[in-house]
Amino acid sequence: MNITVRTRCVISFLILTTIALGVVAVYLEETLGEWSDAHVLSELRRYALTARALLEAQEEPLHNATVDALANLLGQDLTVRVTIIAADGTVMGDSLLDGEDLIAMENHAQRPEVLAAWQEGFGVNKHFSTTLSRPMLYVALPFHHVLGTSGVVRTAISLHDVQAIHTRLDWALFIGGLLFIAIWIPMSNLSTRWTFQPLRFIAAQVHSMVRGTQTSRLPVHGNDTLAGLATSLNLLAEEKEDMLTLLAHQKEQMTAVLQSMSEGVIAIDSQQQITLMNRSAIELLQLQENGLGRPIQQALPAPVIAALPLDTQSKVVHPHQEFTLPGPPERQLLAFITPLHGHPGSLIVLRDVTERRRLDRIQREFVANVSHELRTPISIIQASAQTLRESALEDPEYSRILTVAMERNAYRLGKIVADLLELSRLEANRDPVALHSFALLPLVEEAVALLQENADEKAITIQIALTEQSMVLTHPDLLHRILANFLDNAIKYTPAGSRLLVQLKPHGQRQRLEVIDNGQGIAPHHREHIFERFYRVDPGQNRHMGGTGLGLAIVKHLAERMGAEVGVEEVQPHGSLFWLAFPHTS
Ligand code: ADP
Repeated sequence: MNITVRTRCVISFLILTTIALGVVAVYLEETLGEWSDAHVLSELRRYALTARALLEAQEEPLHNATVDALANLLGQDLTVRVTIIAADGTVMGDSLLDGEDLIAMENHAQRPEVLAAWQEGFGVNKHFSTTLSRPMLYVALPFHHVLGTSGVVRTAISLHDVQAIHTRLDWALFIGGLLFIAIWIPMSNLSTRWTFQPLRFIAAQVHSMVRGTQTSRLPVHGNDTLAGLATSLNLLAEEKEDMLTLLAHQKEQMTAVLQSMSEGVIAIDSQQQITLMNRSAIELLQLQENGLGRPIQQALPAPVIAALPLDTQSKVVHPHQEFTLPGPPERQLLAFITPLHGHPGSLIVLRDVTERRRLDRIQREFVANVSHELRTPISIIQASAQTLRESALEDPEYSRILTVAMERNAYRLGKIVADLLELSRLEANRDPVALHSFALLPLVEEAVALLQENADEKAITIQIALTEQSMVLTHPDLLHRILANFLDNAIKYTPAGSRLLVQLKPHGQRQRLEVIDNGQGIAPHHREHIFERFYRVDPGQNRHMGGTGLGLAIVKHLAERMGAEVGVEEVQPHGSLFWLAFPHTS
């Protein structure tokens, strides 16, 4: 049964009040009963004293007729029964009986109240009146008339009358109690309502605050218990809000950290259902959604599941697993799976190692290329020296050929080492250089002058299509090395009698320095790789021409250091266009 606190209070008050009323009623009943008995007794005594005083004041001798008349008169006035008994016990007068009935009354000498009156001067007794056939309370006093007559004057009242007084008293108490309850119930209802109203309001507010629908505070009036309760609850609500804010802040931070991680993070529970997945994991695995709540076998691609040792019960940290996700683009991923600390389940961390693997491969290829490039001239030098020592010293012509080969390959070795050193210097220091505005024409003329002799050897003409006003934002030394490389290649890889053109052209918002030749050109599939280290279109021809295959790789790094870009395009009907796009001047 669902009884409200208020009803419980009302019921408790009712029980307590009923008990209290009952105790009060019993006590009142007892006290008032005793008081009324004492009052009746004292009244009877007072009446007896009055009757005695009247009797003793009679001047004439006391005859039965006189005494009876007096008893009748007193009985009428005093509304009690008055009996006057002679010393021998004969009833001389009685307020209720007259004539024959009076004469017929039995002798009262042995009545206990009469005996007590004679012996102690005052007698009290309760007994059943045979004369009146009802229980009576008697009070008796002796009297002595001046003319010698003695006797006892007795007043009496019916115990029914006394009982009636008690009954009236009980009724009065009962009705008083009923009235009290009739008034008390609505009053207590009102008072509990009045008392509980603020409590009910507080309960409703607290409920709203707990459910988060209420952010304001409870009103605090005065400094009583309810005000204290409201203050405490407000403090509690404040602490709860602070705690929630802190938790939300921490959660936001955690989420931000997780979402900002370049590694993919996936948490699974003991049922292997996904409980967390960050943005990187979604991107790395190319998923449409985060798959929260779904079994990992359904949510993740098959290669991931195959690679993961999904033993969530194990407390052992598994070694990493590497696997390939078919693209496009194909990617190499590294997965770590570890048990979650303090929680059933596991944490999977995914790392994209595609780029690292590509760099590893390039590094391996580079080392292989360097070894290969160095081995060839070294072998030639070794073989030439050995032949010279063993047999060719006597043959001057043969010796000359061998020493020329040794010299050429030593030079080539030195050039490879020099280019490698420059490349490694440029890769180690990628800091951008300070750029300034320069007139382009003198810089181009300087580079052309350096290579004019080579061009003349092949009857190659170089045309410079620049005005003196052409200004660019550049670093003169880096620009010189880039331009020299472009021109050197153009002279090397174009047939004799070709024409070269150097010009400056706007390209979008930038300016491009272009070196155009009308040689054989470069096939598209070679153009893509031409700026890679050791890449050559025709390795045999290149070596013959003394190239190292590092020139354009160095050019690319030089351009990056000054914030520029380089590239190559084809020229119709044949030839190549190498360009350098200067940084945009804002
Ligand atoms: P190298 O030092 O061998 O010249 P580069 O990196 O400068 O190396 O050039 C790479 C390759 O690009 C060369 O081997 C050559 O095959 C090709 N190449 C460069 N410039 C030209 C050009 N103007 N015309 C045709 N082929 C070129």
